[in-house]
Amino acid sequence: MNVVPINIRKKGKVYLIGAGPGDPDLITLRGIKHIRDADVILYDRLIAPELLEEARPSAEIIYVGKEGGKPSTPQEIINQILVVRANEGHKVVRLKGGDPFVFGRGGEELEVLNASGISYEVVPGISSSIAAASFAGIPLTHRDHSSSFTVITGHSINKGSFPQRWKCLANCETLVILMGVRRLSQIAENLILHGKSKSTPVAVIEKASQQLQKKVIGTLGNIAVKAKHIETPATIVIGEVVSLSYVLDWFEPKTEIFSDRLTEVISMD
Ligand code: SAH
Repeated sequence: MNVVPINIRKKGKVYLIGAGPGDPDLITLRGIKHIRDADVILYDRLIAPELLEEARPSAEIIYVGKEGGKPSTPQEIINQILVVRANEGHKVVRLKGGDPFVFGRGGEELEVLNASGISYEVVPGISSSIAAASFAGIPLTHRDHSSSFTVITGHSINKGSFPQRWKCLANCETLVILMGVRRLSQIAENLILHGKSKSTPVAVIEKASQQLQKKVIGTLGNIAVKAKHIETPATIVIGEVVSLSYVLDWFEPKTEIFSDRLTEVISMD
């Protein structure tokens, strides 16, 4: 019998991989190579099923997604699986939506691996913060409109909280908000309260890059009403660059909702 003593067994490794915004073609070549070669894959809710079909038939595939309001796999359990499987000598792929270091808890998981002496690699992914704008025909920067963009989470935003922070956000050129669609009215109210014009163009893009992508365009003053039917996952883009969406729109999903014409958006002021 060929038994390898545990102390000289090859240690496994964890590959923290960004899967991109949803369309399976938007993962990197390096990412897909590791998926094809993995012994174990832990994946999140927004991962395209086509990517998992690339795994070897013998691969262990574990769903560890979190869904707002519903029971989800606790982070400690995810950490434990990563550590145990890597210590068993496996090649472990940890697959996350978008980029693992953009609101993906990627840093926290690597800290746990550090503490356990497990080696790892990170494969960046196309973050939805970038892709949602691309697929809506919105250049996040443009020499005539915006020389910077700021990405924030809308998750912990409350009305009237952190006036300093709101003041700062109201001064941003292009603002990209993830996990903010359920708080859209609070976000818009706070930005207006702290000095951003009511007529600032806003886009909300649901399921960016996918055939069911939806896009709603309005202004800070009316977007909360216009985007009422939008569901998660969705990304919000706020700023003058949004107005370019009308002329640079290129993506043709099956469903597309334009609530406004540009002229109407501008005349809202
Ligand atoms: N690490 C991810 C973000 C995780 S937070 C990344 O880099 O993209 C999850 C949030 O990302 C969602 O609430 C939503 O705001 C955004 N998101 C993810 N996929 C999306 C998609 N296909 N279209 C629009 N927004 C998306």
